[in-house]
Amino acid sequence: MSDFDDLYRDLILDHAKRPRNRGKPPTANRAATGDNPTCGDNCTVHLRLDDGGRISAIGFEGSGCAISTASASIMTTQLKGKTAPEAETAFAGLKDILATGKPPEDFNELAAFAGVHAFPARIKCATLAWHAALEAMKTEPASSS
Ligand code: ZN
Repeated sequence: MSDFDDLYRDLILDHAKRPRNRGKPPTANRAATGDNPTCGDNCTVHLRLDDGGRISAIGFEGSGCAISTASASIMTTQLKGKTAPEAETAFAGLKDILATGKPPEDFNELAAFAGVHAFPARIKCATLAWHAALEAMKTEPASSS
């Protein structure tokens, strides 16, 4: 176990213990839910797209293991301000990290999930919130004032 691994483990534990953007943002008008029965994780992502198609608010609810909670938390910090195509690209980057176990060249917090590569059963934990977020972006916005 290198210091590098420790750094990433600490990052996941930090997000799992103190998730960022937990709850439904007041302005959110789209949502989607995903669940991962093999682990018992579930996650609902709430978001709002601004007129330019960028995520102006995002939050999540649900419960699950440390990896799923940390992934949802990091996902919200990564996706704020992004468009749907940019979100797809970021998710493709995460899936690449999970498939190869190699962190990306350009450091970002998604690299923390490289270690999940060694635990194939947990990969769904790390992708659950992302699937929900991308699904939420495709839904029709709920009508609200
Ligand atoms: Zn899980």
